[in-house]
Amino acid sequence: MSSSVIDFIATEARFGAQNYAPIGVVLSRGEGVWVWDTEGNRYLDCLSAYSAVSQGHCHPKILAAMVEQAHRLTLTSRAFHNDQLALFYEEIAALTGSHKVLPMNSGAEAVETAIKSVRKWGYEVKGVPDGQAEIIVCANNFHGRTLGIVGFSTDPETHGHFGPFAPGFKIIPFGDAAALKKAITPNTVAFLVEPIQGEAGVVIPPAGYFTEVRQLCTANNVMLVLDEIQTGLGRTGKLLAEQHEGIEADVTLLGKALSGGFYPVSAVLSNNDVLGTLRPGQHGSTFGGNPLACAVARAAMRVLVEEGMIENAARQGARFLEGLKDIRANTIREVRGRGLMLAVELHPEAGRARRYCEALQGKGILAKDTHEQTIRIAPPLVITSDQVDWALERLASTLTQDFS
Ligand SMILES: *Cc1c(COP(=O)(O)O)cnc(C)c1O
Repeated sequence: MSSSVIDFIATEARFGAQNYAPIGVVLSRGEGVWVWDTEGNRYLDCLSAYSAVSQGHCHPKILAAMVEQAHRLTLTSRAFHNDQLALFYEEIAALTGSHKVLPMNSGAEAVETAIKSVRKWGYEVKGVPDGQAEIIVCANNFHGRTLGIVGFSTDPETHGHFGPFAPGFKIIPFGDAAALKKAITPNTVAFLVEPIQGEAGVVIPPAGYFTEVRQLCTANNVMLVLDEIQTGLGRTGKLLAEQHEGIEADVTLLGKALSGGFYPVSAVLSNNDVLGTLRPGQHGSTFGGNPLACAVARAAMRVLVEEGMIENAARQGARFLEGLKDIRANTIREVRGRGLMLAVELHPEAGRARRYCEALQGKGILAKDTHEQTIRIAPPLVITSDQVDWALERLASTLTQDFS
């Protein structure tokens, strides 16, 4: 590493809170699936900023929409209307088949908004006694970092020494419909769940799970809230991961790729009266629904569809998964994935996934470990067959090494 790179990293360490442990690369440019470091080395981005850059780095059409809008009007607050919000509503509703939309900024804010809304719905529509609403969530969930959310995380790193936390959450195992059935009471207002648990290591539930979940929620008048912040917008090879299961959520949360990585934009979508319970003054955000965010999100959704990125995710995801399954290496315990949301879980004896990610960096691939033993692979949805094969070659030669 050159001294300038070491300076960037040292300066971050000196002034910054150490709440991340990044791989030792300093990036300065990106285009499509590629990023470049300050020394000009090129890498295939196999993280895509945790799926926020699904449309590829610096997509020219999203960039143009952002620049054009930034010249005209960036922020009005919701105290006034703007000429982008209505169009954003119309287009996201048409794309997802939703009836009501509430725009926020970060994913965690969308989750918080959903929690507030389903509680309010519970009291005002379902008739749950005030203060008694229960929300069921899953073990090993990841829904963001705010206090409300980390309070129902089961990961000690995530919630340790941050309490006390808000009550009203019940934790059940993921992928276990019988556990959901048992946990539901007359005060249950919602079941909040990821279609595929991303941060937990790309954990795919058993076939039929969500069909049963949907039936249980409908039968008990419980709102099914799907956190599609990571799985949504084409990542799994369908627009929404719920489509693999042939179900529809009552409330869907989107974020990350909703802006193609240019800007924090999230949204709560609902198919019924959940968002309808909110009245003026009861919820909001200074930046939520601002014209710059809306213009960026509109372009990000448009290129996803117009450029066939969702179909490409299905096609290249299948190729990538097959290729990973063909790698014969003692280090690999399991390979999982749907669309371009992929993971390689290593045997505990193989050493930490972090070492493999560092070795991949040396070969021109940026990937990130999760939970010690898992390498997560999630390139932009614009990846080509040649690029998939290029990555597979390097993954194969890395995974056959022994870093234990
Ligand atoms: C990333 C993520 C979030 C949180 O989004 P932020 O924008 O980081 O607040 C919530 N849920 C899921 C499933 C995520 O992957």
